[in-house]
Amino acid sequence: MKSVSGTAVLAGALALGCLSTPSPLAPSFHGTVGAPNLGVQTDAVELPVAGPGFVRYRPLGAHHYGRPRLVAALTRIARELAAGDSLAPPLVIGDLSAKTGGKIDGHQSHRTGRDVDILYQYVTPAGARVAAPGFIRVEADGLARVPEDGHILRLDIEHEWRLVKALVTAPEIGVQFLFASHNVEALLIDYAMARGEPLELVLHVQSVMWQPGDSLPHDDHIHLRIACSVEETVEGCTGGGPYWEWLPPLPAPVAFDEGKLALLVADDPPLEPLPVPSDSAPFTTPSTPALGAEAARGSVGAKSAAQKTREPAETSE
Ligand SMILES: [Zn+2]
Repeated sequence: MKSVSGTAVLAGALALGCLSTPSPLAPSFHGTVGAPNLGVQTDAVELPVAGPGFVRYRPLGAHHYGRPRLVAALTRIARELAAGDSLAPPLVIGDLSAKTGGKIDGHQSHRTGRDVDILYQYVTPAGARVAAPGFIRVEADGLARVPEDGHILRLDIEHEWRLVKALVTAPEIGVQFLFASHNVEALLIDYAMARGEPLELVLHVQSVMWQPGDSLPHDDHIHLRIACSVEETVEGCTGGGPYWEWLPPLPAPVAFDEGKLALLVADDPPLEPLPVPSDSAPFTTPSTPALGAEAARGSVGAKSAAQKTREPAETSE
């Protein structure tokens, strides 16, 4: 029977990205592990059913678990936006992730506690603020029809911009993406420019705000994805989009320093020779020079073959 060496297994696992999920080979990965569309999470925190300034869209849903810092940012921002604003309806928050992550119904991502859907905010045609009655589609003119009753609402651009600004400046999180439709982005950016918001802030929002090309246009909610923190990256967090230049620098691999390694092992006790069983024959080198040379050639040949079989696994994507 062919045996597979541990090195080969490890090389294969690396090549396939298997180390992005906890396994006996990488037991120390925890928290938000892997990419948002191919990962899991541990130690998640549940967003409460309701709190100051927010409610969950699905009170009984099981998919409201996220990274502690994401839940902290959401609850803080909702509380602060509602403070002193007696007319503010609650923000309506959709799915985050399952308690242990992985695939959940209705989402390709939302697997690692870094994603959350926040329903858009609306006003009536007369200007009264209302909580989002559901996932209703905002058209290019900012209007949205409630399918159940035919009522027309309008995107509350002013308060949606306040929310976006609070999210991109939140110290707890680094925003990787704000998925929103092109129409909603245009309305928000026009509003911000007309309002004289700092150009740097507007460009920041434009950078992270995207209408995804491979999923729904996000014309009925904004989808926030936070980037891996430095600590999370070390513990297995990866992917999900660009790591923007304004985020804290990620740790670089440490260069191998032979001098330091020599110092580290200098105090190690010398290796004891292995005991030789008394009844075994002493090891002798081949006495025939020709045989020795052949064995040596065979050894080199065998090593090359081993390297050849390992190389594709180590270099393939
Ligand atoms: Zn989403």
